Amino acid sequence: VKIKIVDIPVPITIGPAFEGETIRKKDAWVEFGGGRSTSFELVRMCGVDEVEDGKIEVIGPEIDEMPEGSVFPLGFMVDIYGRKMQEDFEGVLERRIHYNLNYGEGLWHVAQRNMMWVRIGKNAHDVGFKIKDFGEILIAKFKSDFPAIVDRVQVTIITDKDVIEEKIKIAIEKYATRDARLKGLTDDVETYYSCLLCQSFAPNHVCVVSPERLGLCGAVSWLDAKASNEINPLGPNQPIEKGECLDAEKGQWKNLNDFIYANSHNTVEAVNFYTLMENPMTSCGCFEAIMAILPMCNGVMITTREHGGDTPCGMTFSALAGTCGGGMQTPGFMGLGRRYITSNKFIKADGGLARLVWMPKELKEFLGQDLIDVAVAEGLGADFVDKIADETVGVTEDEILPFLEEKQHPALKLDPMM
Ligand code: SF4
Ligand code: ZN
Repeated sequence: VKIKIVDIPVPITIGPAFEGETIRKKDAWVEFGGGRSTSFELVRMCGVDEVEDGKIEVIGPEIDEMPEGSVFPLGFMVDIYGRKMQEDFEGVLERRIHYNLNYGEGLWHVAQRNMMWVRIGKNAHDVGFKIKDFGEILIAKFKSDFPAIVDRVQVTIITDKDVIEEKIKIAIEKYATRDARLKGLTDDVETYYSCLLCQSFAPNHVCVVSPERLGLCGAVSWLDAKASNEINPLGPNQPIEKGECLDAEKGQWKNLNDFIYANSHNTVEAVNFYTLMENPMTSCGCFEAIMAILPMCNGVMITTREHGGDTPCGMTFSALAGTCGGGMQTPGFMGLGRRYITSNKFIKADGGLARLVWMPKELKEFLGQDLIDVAVAEGLGADFVDKIADETVGVTEDEILPFLEEKQHPALKLDPMM
């Protein structure tokens, strides 16, 4: 990614050097989202009269009214007018919020959409960073990075706990519309797209995004990658024609391997799309969820960034992230986007959804009816979701196995995983 230096009127330094910076809880002045409060980010295409260029509005408390160590809600609404802007570009620009805010010294942004999690460090607070300054950064970056499609930008930042509950409805409806456009597209298309955006901190990591498998950050779908390539043909999302199929079941294609090998600086030789047991896709660090094998239960578990607790594989999300991040292939472990779970191609070569034996309750609720629909389509029955254990059943394999046996979870009858 080419980074232009632009003058942004904020009291902190903005630059790629700060991208990998982590802000620990104890070093945060205030934090937002991440399951602790409501949060969302939304880029919308708007009409010419709906956008007042450069306008920043903060609805709710400024940072002066946020005590040290506090938690507040946070919503970003970025309205864009551009003669060449398309609705398809919204998701692409929305992902840039993540990168642009992380360039700020003392700012930290993870996840996306209404999972967004943000911290402002004490260092940034102490030099006078304001909530309004988020808007300054976003406006400057969108205008300098996308001059061809962005003519006017305005940013509304919501920190009021009542207003955000209203505004988030607009965002959730938008996300649903975008996701619906993907339905009906299958992995049978000839062209997948690369995403190399995360190479700035995981240099050998290559995401390949297909219609039925979104990027592990959950923010880049095949349609987003396609739109991003239209915006910037030499950018981080390149079309790759799959070429010769080397393994239809595991999902391996010659040209994808060649692309991944070359772009991982000759470290990853082959990737299977539909299994986590052999040459799984690499993981950078921004996975929404992590999947891990549970040998005793003959299945897999998934935990999320939002679930801080223990899991039956013996590791928390952060311990797992240390095991399988950084662009390495770690058979038996893999980062994934939440919505990949309800894909028809979900670990197909390992037995598909029938392998899933444990996930946090919150993730079950997040996937909701979609998960039930897929279970039915896979012939597992509408009650399959109730056979998946969660933290209320147990957080060790010993604790959950009797439950799986009692519920006659289908994973127990599948071929051994190892
Ligand atoms: Fe792109 Fe993958 Fe990073 Fe998402 S996780 S931004 S798809 S490289
Ligand atoms: Zn990443």
